[in-house]
Amino acid sequence: MRSFQCVLMLLLASNALIGPAPMSADEGASPNVVVIFCDDLGYGDLGCFGHPTIRTPHLDQMAAEGQKWTEFYVAASVCSPSRAALQTGRYPIRNGMCSMKRRVLFPDSTGGLPPSEVTLGRMLKNRGYATHAIGKWHLGHLPKFLPTQHGYDSYFGIPYSNDMDFVKGSSKRRFEDPESKNFNVPLMQGNKIIERPADQTTITKRFTGRACALIRQHKEDQPFFIYLAHNLPHVPLFRSSEFENVSRRGLYGDVIEEIDWSVGQVLGTLRETGLDKSTLVVFTSDNGPWKSFKQQGGSAGLLRDGKGSTWEGGMREPTVFWWPGTIPSGVVMEMGSTLDLLPTLGSLANAKVPDDRVLDGLDLSPTLLENKPSPRSQMIYYHGDEVFAVRQGMYKAHFKTKTSYQGQREAEVHDPPLLFHLGHDPGEQHDVAKIYPEVVKRLEGLKADHEATVEPIENQMTLR
Ligand code: MG
Repeated sequence: MRSFQCVLMLLLASNALIGPAPMSADEGASPNVVVIFCDDLGYGDLGCFGHPTIRTPHLDQMAAEGQKWTEFYVAASVCSPSRAALQTGRYPIRNGMCSMKRRVLFPDSTGGLPPSEVTLGRMLKNRGYATHAIGKWHLGHLPKFLPTQHGYDSYFGIPYSNDMDFVKGSSKRRFEDPESKNFNVPLMQGNKIIERPADQTTITKRFTGRACALIRQHKEDQPFFIYLAHNLPHVPLFRSSEFENVSRRGLYGDVIEEIDWSVGQVLGTLRETGLDKSTLVVFTSDNGPWKSFKQQGGSAGLLRDGKGSTWEGGMREPTVFWWPGTIPSGVVMEMGSTLDLLPTLGSLANAKVPDDRVLDGLDLSPTLLENKPSPRSQMIYYHGDEVFAVRQGMYKAHFKTKTSYQGQREAEVHDPPLLFHLGHDPGEQHDVAKIYPEVVKRLEGLKADHEATVEPIENQMTLR
């Protein structure tokens, strides 16, 4: 019988991480964890984050029962580095997983997340969890980089983006009216390709089915961690026949409404199995909407720009935490990041968090459990391997900007930097650098202090 009072008692006794304790007779100190990670979902794309024509009743309910975080960040505005940060709790500059030259991994890449890195899967497996990765990985497709070499017991998914391995000669309208056969993306089980091209019309349904089956499978035996990384709504957009033309928002809306259905299936399975009170579910995305695809891309709501940029729309994500009976419901306007998941889950699971390397993540559990202020007071915004902006408190300084993923060719340098107050001006419209020169100076110091902590390391993104 799992007791979650035990978790609370441990946390109240000490905010410090306790480990590396073996799984005790009382396994109650180890909640199950499901991280649902979307691809290119915009800040404004969910009903509970204000979208007027996309219906997301399951996510809306999840947010109402759980915590909706309005200032939650990823550590990069594109896929591979953002995923590296989520898995390791480290800015990708620390493990070679970011570059200005190649911003993500491609099918001809030979690099990946170094085996020396400790992932969420590895940390929780060491604690005795069953660990499963489902969906898009994008941290290296060669066998040594796949999830099963990074601490996951199983893997079912695609190793990189769903628009890669594009078949030459297929329709120029491949994104407007997509067909799976035009994208020769492999579907993998473990280290083996089991389907190619992957039938993308059923992929969300199949990822969901696998997640629900694993929840049932582990109901009695051991705590589990499921990393459910949907490869949508990244273009090309696909949905199953049941979701064709259901949304007022068109194809993009159909895709989001199927992801919302998937969330409902996962939460429903947790309720049916009686595991809802013993499972933390986190929902977020890897980066902002791919706006250059126009109606095929999402919306960052009132935030500026999207995928690929260090404006807020590229890196702030619609995020929900759900753990009925343990985390109080509400809207949290504190800062958090995917960087924080590793130390936070380590704390909640009483797992050993790596202490032999620089970690950029912080333990959010006091905020989640007790409404305490977030320990995170700053964010560093990387574009490739370069710091383009920093935030401290409500102020954000931009040293360089590059608008959208495929638009502006060269970054614009700002000297002095642009300065925005993200409380008064979340859309970053009104530069106040001239009014607050002392804040600009402080943020310049923060950038320099952070950069001094970075050590050179082999770049993985450019290897091929
Ligand atoms: Mg992405």
